[in-house]
Amino acid sequence: MNNLVLNSESLNSVLENKIISYSGALQIYQDAKTNPSELFSTAQNLRKKYKGNTVTFSKKAFFNIINMCKDTCTYCTYKAEPTDTKLSLMSKQEIKQMLSLAKKHRCVEALFVTGERPEQRYQEAKDWLKENGFKSTAEYLIHASEWALEEGLFPHTNAGNLTIDEMKELQKTNVSMGLMLENSSERLSQKGMPHYLAPSKKPKARLEVLENSGKLKIPMTTGILVGIGETSEEVIDSIFALKKIHEKYGNIQEIILQNFQPKEDTKMSDFPSAEENYFKIIVALSRIIMPEMNIQIPPNLSPKSYQSFLSVGINDWGGVSPLTPDYVNPEFSWPEIKKIDENSENAGFDLKCRFPIYPEFFSFISKELRDKMSFIEDEEGLVKEEYWR
Ligand code: SF4
Repeated sequence: MNNLVLNSESLNSVLENKIISYSGALQIYQDAKTNPSELFSTAQNLRKKYKGNTVTFSKKAFFNIINMCKDTCTYCTYKAEPTDTKLSLMSKQEIKQMLSLAKKHRCVEALFVTGERPEQRYQEAKDWLKENGFKSTAEYLIHASEWALEEGLFPHTNAGNLTIDEMKELQKTNVSMGLMLENSSERLSQKGMPHYLAPSKKPKARLEVLENSGKLKIPMTTGILVGIGETSEEVIDSIFALKKIHEKYGNIQEIILQNFQPKEDTKMSDFPSAEENYFKIIVALSRIIMPEMNIQIPPNLSPKSYQSFLSVGINDWGGVSPLTPDYVNPEFSWPEIKKIDENSENAGFDLKCRFPIYPEFFSFISKELRDKMSFIEDEEGLVKEEYWR
């Protein structure tokens, strides 16, 4: 029997609820490089089976709380030095004003983002925290999350590697949290590689935080950055590493597949962006490795072709803001929600707005948080159409 026949069998068996093995996934990847159509159609069928024709997004405002960071990743333009014009240090008043504006725009999610423990590297960050009455960035985020809830927005914090105690506090107000794995390969932390100067990106450290989120039963959004110099084995390893955590704790609510885009003024500015066919194969493979997972690609990072990813297995566009830029990828503005709606409809999908937590994880959060959601929640556990449109 040749490999192609074997893979048809493997792909068919996934549709019949059989679990794909690591070696099976590797072989499917190899074959898909020359002919991806069978992989793509299997991924599409699985998406249809588990997610129907719905594609979701989260209507959000992006709070760039502090963008100093103790680490340095060679692809990052989010991080700012204290003298940079792009430095962001949001005061309490600025956070509260933005929350009120976000509410007026009927945003649902308050996305709180910071660099990795800036106070451990910069005196300016320590001073800013002190001025606002806090000792650590995490402590500030705990309070900011409370203000978001008071305003009727639902916080989702992505602040790097938090400790278990910090997560325990944030869990009281955050309906979900986020931490990208990026990749599970130690090789990417070696000298000359993107994470060499970013100890927080060491796979062991990231996986430990994801494990802790599982122990705490926090619905977690995580993901992989595709195209930063990884091998195909390493990206497949990464998907399996996330699968393992989800099998153990059941708390991974979503996997973001983010395609690398080179940025000016970074060490990786000459590095090519992730090739679209490669990226699509990785997206489709993720669907067949984890058939029931919520899989997201950010539409702003594939501005010309994002709707074509609907045919390779995704079911979510992630957070889209009508109000704030994507501070992590400021050169890629989000498409208008109206446009995403139109493009999704033309591809045969219904666009719906979700909370920063997916309905299948509602049992993970407190009754107080569920009660707050109920005002704008529809019978499917999504956001009422009249609220977000
Ligand atoms: S840890 Fe995050 S913010 Fe810090 S340099 Fe890396 S990507 Fe940028």
